[in-house]
Amino acid sequence: MWFRRDLRLHDNPALAGAAGGDGHVVPLFVIDPRVWDHASDIRRTYLVRSLTALDESLSGNLVVRHGDPRTVVAAVASESRADSVHIATDFGPYGPSRDAAVEATLGVPLVRTGSPYAVAPGRVTKGDGTAYRVYTPFYRAWVQHGWRSPAKSVPTDWVSLRSEGIPAASCPIDLPAAGEAAALACWQEFRSDGVRDYSDRRNRPDLAGTSMLGHHLKWGEIHPRTILADLGDSDGEEVFRKEIAWREFYADVCHQRPDSIRVSLDRRYDTDFPWATGPETDARFEAWTQGLTGFPVVDAGMRQLRETGWMHNRVRMIVASFLVKDLHIPWQRGAAHFMSLLRDGDIASNAHGWQWTAGCGTDASPYYRVFNPVTQGLKFDPDGDYVRTYIPELRHIAGKSVHEPWTLLDGYAHDYPERILDHAAERNEALARFSAMKEMN
Ligand SMILES: Cc1cc2nc3c(=O)[nH]c(=O)nc-3n(C[C@H](O)[C@H](O)[C@H](O)COP(=O)(O)OP(=O)(O)OC[C@H]3O[C@@H](n4cnc5c(N)ncnc54)[C@H](O)[C@@H]3O)c2cc1C
Repeated sequence: MWFRRDLRLHDNPALAGAAGGDGHVVPLFVIDPRVWDHASDIRRTYLVRSLTALDESLSGNLVVRHGDPRTVVAAVASESRADSVHIATDFGPYGPSRDAAVEATLGVPLVRTGSPYAVAPGRVTKGDGTAYRVYTPFYRAWVQHGWRSPAKSVPTDWVSLRSEGIPAASCPIDLPAAGEAAALACWQEFRSDGVRDYSDRRNRPDLAGTSMLGHHLKWGEIHPRTILADLGDSDGEEVFRKEIAWREFYADVCHQRPDSIRVSLDRRYDTDFPWATGPETDARFEAWTQGLTGFPVVDAGMRQLRETGWMHNRVRMIVASFLVKDLHIPWQRGAAHFMSLLRDGDIASNAHGWQWTAGCGTDASPYYRVFNPVTQGLKFDPDGDYVRTYIPELRHIAGKSVHEPWTLLDGYAHDYPERILDHAAERNEALARFSAMKEMN
């Protein structure tokens, strides 16, 4: 069993397939330099902890090998005299070609069972067989298609083989517990305590109203099907199912258009849009990454990301809109920054979360919809608690006034930076640039 983004023992159809013969299974994980060397410290550290948890649940039998999977997987298969190698199908931009190359060198069948999604990308199509480009009809068809029940576990004897060991990694932030047990506990806690209020609370960054399952889903420590099987029909559960479906939708879009992790689906945004460049833009980008733009909710979000490796979804949209429409910087630069810090960094959800906000993606928010960072802050952080949590320079301000320190005599008493731009002016500038792009076509 070659584990990749499915670091769990329960509800794991590929593992059940591997154990389905005589029950003997070599559990393998390959540290592939092409992936490892490009991952951020945060994602590497999380992966190391997740592998450590997996190894414990395998009584220390996880076989970790370092190198190119094309040689490593074949070598382990031959050392262990395996008669097949089992994987969950990878639908990412790099996985399918890697798996095809491994298959070509293996000498025994590479058996693909299941995927990291409830419904495998490519399965939900329109009547004419083409892919959905808009979320709502995709969601309806996805529900109608349905998904299997969680897979049953099969008794397994782990075969011990030489392991090169889980590598070391560290990062400067405090990460949540990793591994399958932590993922299941996280889901059970949210299921009993949070999901029913999810529709009311999920847009409020000042409340702990979301599941915090992103990093667990990313590494397959829990399968979305396990979650869907537990969901009922309350408002909160229905909205939560729709969020799980966004992850599936974006995986589907990336499967159809693997290049969309880098290029705008509306190509005009890469070829014709007059993006800002130069040293002043670079300085503004730097202020954005550091949480020093002078707009409290934007800065709180960027500091939350830096300090915790996570940012609330509503605030992800606000800071993304700010980068693209107030700073006139292409979404790809923001997406790369997010990937360097997010613990749930997922190439499909990230690229398409950005494309949606930038207005160039599938199902996109129209370009002229520019988030106002002050009204968004007042609406979704109504007492200002979120801002005060991440911005010590504003903690002396009580209540919602924290969103507008410029209206207070002592607003800047603790060296919070002044606004780096005039939002109304930059909004007009964004719309003018958008019109210029449209005129070129
Ligand atoms: C600019 C931008 C970048 C993003 N980057 C990522 C990313 O790298 N990785 C990532 O998993 N999500 C990303 N998202 C989506 C969303 O912000 C996160 O999934 C969510 O904040 C994770 O917190 P949670 O697990 O508590 O979410 P919950 O609200 O509890 O949602 C449960 C799960 O549903 C899925 N989900 C929820 N909303 C979305 C969404 N809009 N798109 C796709 N899946 C969703 C996630 O798997 C999430 O864990 C991004 C959104 C934006 C606007």
